[in-house]
Amino acid sequence: MDYELQADFVAGADGSRSQARSAIPETRRQRYVHEYPFAWFGILAEAPRSSDELIYANSANGFALISQRTETVQRMYFQCDPNEDVNNWSDDRIWETFRSRVNGNGFELKEGPVIDKTVLKFRSSVLAPMRHGRLFLAGDAAHTVPPTGAKGLNLALNDVKVLFEGLDSFYKSGNAALLDAYSDRALDRVWKAQQFSYWMTSMLHTPAGADDFARARQLGELNSVVSSRHGRAYLAEAYTGWPGSH
Ligand SMILES: Cc1cc2nc3c(=O)[nH]c(=O)nc-3n(C[C@H](O)[C@H](O)[C@H](O)COP(=O)(O)OP(=O)(O)OC[C@H]3O[C@@H](n4cnc5c(N)ncnc54)[C@H](O)[C@@H]3O)c2cc1C
Repeated sequence: MDYELQADFVAGADGSRSQARSAIPETRRQRYVHEYPFAWFGILAEAPRSSDELIYANSANGFALISQRTETVQRMYFQCDPNEDVNNWSDDRIWETFRSRVNGNGFELKEGPVIDKTVLKFRSSVLAPMRHGRLFLAGDAAHTVPPTGAKGLNLALNDVKVLFEGLDSFYKSGNAALLDAYSDRALDRVWKAQQFSYWMTSMLHTPAGADDFARARQLGELNSVVSSRHGRAYLAEAYTGWPGSH
């Protein structure tokens, strides 16, 4: 059934499979896409917390991330092939993989029944401009990032804040300048986040077939960051999010 929508403005915030963005003619938009040879095998496990902190692990056997949810349920990921089938993974095989990537130096992962398994393929995409006429795209409808930098929700919230400022200014003063600047202001942060997510992904994941040089260089890069006050400050600033767009 067809519907006609009448509104001053439309916010297209309908996620990565957005219908709203298809309302923008292809000749009026540019889509930037980057595919990665990486994916995360994600689980939810009924287990106690393993640590007070979020753990990012770069190991010779591949990347792993241990995040803490509640006292009894934890979310964890390990790097896998993008075409991996979750049905091929028993709990034993999953925990063996985690152990080989994070256990050691006095750290031991706390394990338990796996209650959810999913494969998350990596992709960067940006659609620009994020505005067409009175349609404003926001969040995953306009851009996606690989999960390594944990930037997806952060970007979606920033878009909404910037759009709110534009609408607020328009309805209070009739001035459309901030609405006209919406796409540029939002994209400023989007491209910083794309860069950060790409960098974290390439620094922390081991490509299939990486040779000894590639592996040693990658550890050199990681050491350069963590042994430098400025390197740590850059990572912390980008990870926690930059100040609001201006
Ligand atoms: C497993 C996983 C883990 C993640 N972890 C993190 C993380 O740690 N940190 C982080 O920052 N980000 C994370 N993300 C990314 C984050 O979830 C997204 O970037 C964020 O949710 C984007 O928000 P959004 O509102 O743009 O889109 P969505 O959250 O996808 O919301 C879009 C909404 O639109 C609705 N919708 C779609 N089509 C229609 C339609 N035709 N009509 C009506 N409604 C419609 C959908 O039902 C949905 O409710 C993760 C994503 C996944 C999949």
